[in-house]
Amino acid sequence: MPRPIEALVHVAALAHNLSRARQAASEARVWAVVKANAYGHGIERAFEGLRGADGFALLDLAEAERIRALGWRGPVLLLEGCFEPRDLELCSRLNLWHVVHHEAQIDWLAAHKTRVPQRVFLKMNSGMNRLGFRPEAFGSAHARLQALPQVDEISLMTHFADADGPRGIASQLAVFEAATQDLPGERSLANSAAMLRHGAAAGGPIGARVRSDWVRAGILAYGSAPDFPEHDIVHWGLRPTMTLRSRLIATQQLQRGDSVGYGSRFTAEAAMRIGIVACGYADGYPRHAGTGTPVLVDGVRTRTVGRVSMDMLAVDLQPLPRAEVGSEVTLWGLGPGEAVLAIDEVAQAAATIGYELMCALAPRVPVRVVD
Ligand SMILES: *Cc1c(COP(=O)(O)O)cnc(C)c1O
Repeated sequence: MPRPIEALVHVAALAHNLSRARQAASEARVWAVVKANAYGHGIERAFEGLRGADGFALLDLAEAERIRALGWRGPVLLLEGCFEPRDLELCSRLNLWHVVHHEAQIDWLAAHKTRVPQRVFLKMNSGMNRLGFRPEAFGSAHARLQALPQVDEISLMTHFADADGPRGIASQLAVFEAATQDLPGERSLANSAAMLRHGAAAGGPIGARVRSDWVRAGILAYGSAPDFPEHDIVHWGLRPTMTLRSRLIATQQLQRGDSVGYGSRFTAEAAMRIGIVACGYADGYPRHAGTGTPVLVDGVRTRTVGRVSMDMLAVDLQPLPRAEVGSEVTLWGLGPGEAVLAIDEVAQAAATIGYELMCALAPRVPVRVVD
């Protein structure tokens, strides 16, 4: 028998979450963001649930080839654009749209030999200071692109640093609007947090006062709340798309004063029973999730105890007198019955975010598509 750990990808939940993006984005077309191997879900698996999107956005050219290999003929956007001049040949061959965020990329385009002009998304650095032209350089970059026979339509794009938090998007939005007011072209502004918290459906400016032609749905499609713990997936009407589950492979009866695992980081204050789960950090479970991280055993919520090791972790069986070797353990996602353990709760216990946990699912974990 193989080790009992597995991950499930819930394609119906992906489709459901995508429909939530459509509601939140009102009239806008929706990019399904499938970078990082569809946030760890696997591009081919996620495609089953996300094929109702208007396009796929990603940043690895090999991943763009995989989307085309699945038969997707619609828009594909490279979010970081080209990394070197010859990437433009692949853009021509596969009809990829690409972000232009740097002067060098315009130089490469100017030197590119193509009969079919390419669609580009010109990116503004409106304050995040990661990628894009500064507002004062944006107009001249636009003019340069417009003069190139290699370039077809030019769309305008920016990315918010604080859409999920109290700083919000107002100042970046003002910068973007001021620097683009005289420019034609479609606009793409919102990631998950921006469309949920600042979209027209939420009474925000994006899509209402401010034009929004394309939204970029990443984390919400994968059933994690971008602004947890302020809001959870229940609040946003999202469903988990990834379950990580395993089984108990041993139990131990502890006496008062006994400790558990490496570093003896948990000590029993009274007699108690614990279970040992076939899941550790080599499976992608976060090692920094300390004692008290929520976990489901047979669908009942309990907690981890002690340090996570490479292949195992320990759980408190006090609420589960009948749990035994073979009992089902849900590390995150959907448990037996109606039980749900949001990946965001586990992430918070490990001082990280749902994004990181799903992206870090280890290759040794077998994955099955369900629904
Ligand atoms: C990853 C990414 C997104 C998606 O962000 P989420 O927070 O997952 O919705 C949107 N836009 C850009 C440019 C990105 O790199």
